[in-house]
Amino acid sequence: MFQDLVKSQKLFFDSQQTKSLHFRQKALKKLKDSILSHKQEILQALSEDLGKHFVEGYMSEVAQVLEEISHALKDLKKYTKPQKVKTPITHFGGRSEVVYEPYGVVLVISPWNYPFALSLIPLVGAIASGNCVILKPSSYSKNTETILEQILCECFASEYVCMVKGGHQETQALLEEKLDYIFFTGSVPVGKIVMEKASKNLIPLTLELGGKNPCILDKDVDLDMSVKRIVWGKFFNSGQTCIAPDFLLAHKSHQNELIAKIMHYLQEFFGEEKMQSSSYGKIITQRHYTRAKELLEVECGEVIGGGFDDEKHKIEPTIINFKNLEKNHEGLLCRVMQEEIFAPILPIFFYEDIKECIDLIKTYPKPLALYLFSQDKKLQRKIVEEIPYGGGCMNDCIVQVANAYLPFGGVGHSGMGSYHGSANFETFSHKKSIYYAPKFELPLRYPPYSKKIFGIAREKILDFLFAGGKDGMAK
Ligand code: NAD
Repeated sequence: MFQDLVKSQKLFFDSQQTKSLHFRQKALKKLKDSILSHKQEILQALSEDLGKHFVEGYMSEVAQVLEEISHALKDLKKYTKPQKVKTPITHFGGRSEVVYEPYGVVLVISPWNYPFALSLIPLVGAIASGNCVILKPSSYSKNTETILEQILCECFASEYVCMVKGGHQETQALLEEKLDYIFFTGSVPVGKIVMEKASKNLIPLTLELGGKNPCILDKDVDLDMSVKRIVWGKFFNSGQTCIAPDFLLAHKSHQNELIAKIMHYLQEFFGEEKMQSSSYGKIITQRHYTRAKELLEVECGEVIGGGFDDEKHKIEPTIINFKNLEKNHEGLLCRVMQEEIFAPILPIFFYEDIKECIDLIKTYPKPLALYLFSQDKKLQRKIVEEIPYGGGCMNDCIVQVANAYLPFGGVGHSGMGSYHGSANFETFSHKKSIYYAPKFELPLRYPPYSKKIFGIAREKILDFLFAGGKDGMAK
């Protein structure tokens, strides 16, 4: 289905044009100008797809892409030049370098929850690294898909950058092609399909997946500030954020105050009629909305909130109070604790001992993010050192993604590889190692090995070179 498209991109890549510094700079600047000139339409599309307020759409999507372009333009010169590395004494007289080589034709598959940013941030990395790109966005975010297509058609010839519309069938067909790199953002089950398909042609790939992100609220915190940040991070984009706190583990000392404080901030952010607030988003499709509603059919906790607007696909910010962690092991049988929530529903558990939290978190696959709210520096270290996860924050949530100096990505079930900032170059480039040999050479490597060099046994020379003079080899 896409043989001709891939063939035309491979031909264009082979023409070597995408590799020049000037070509890449021009492409990125063109993209930036086009985004700026379509800013209102992009924000409108995000509002129609996900009910995003213009400010939220700008902050979490448009600004992130613009920031990524600025970063790429700043780093571009460095990455288009070979990077000198050291040469050991064994290679005396030679020099060594690493060349950042673009892969060729890159397929970027993106999800619907941040449909603009998660399509264009990897695209910026792929362009900056000198690749040709095929973008396959999610068909659920229809309005964003339309504006993305318009921008890319305006900026680029299809043999360089092209967008493919359609559903799973089209994505599957693209995955059959002999691509040079795949960058996938989406769910764990689809990530497995993508990886299986990539393995058939040994195509290198990045997987940016999801999971259940724990949020721990220790006793030693500024409770007001912490709750305000947790409420914001959880209910941003109506809970449809891959790095949103999935469930909250709060210390028992907060049992009397926590729910009231959460309600206070929900009221402050979204008012009395929360689902009517223009700052509060909607669930993407009827199917996702129905699934989220079903997650609220729990018997193991008290549901607080849970209002629905069937027409607008909105679910009121909702809390499930599980009362104590002991119940949690029964609670794990609850569907809401078995799958990634990805909706405005926050289960809360109270704990006494941090070990209970760590044990519970470890019963799940490695999450994409983890958040700890605590002033206790020892505890902060302990969590970072003991629990494997993609990345996270101390005393905040979701904002780590907006720091382009932090590589963004998961580990294990939450993904492999990372991007953003310089990691975007690293991801979309093969690091080609080159050694330039001198004419001069040490006679050491050539047989017969029993022959002495300058009257010295070769083992002695090898020990000197590799073991700092210690006679490891001679033994
Ligand atoms: P999804 O896996 O259903 O879809 C992702 C992409 O794959 C879409 O473009 C979709 O069209 C395509 N797709 C879906 N099913 C397919 C199939 N059977 N064969 C081929 N292609 C298929 O994910 P989603 O619902 O769009 O997004 C939500 C998920 O993405 C959540 O799990 C979330 O955690 C994750 N996510 C991760 C990140 C991250 O950066 N790690 C960011 C956003 C979302």
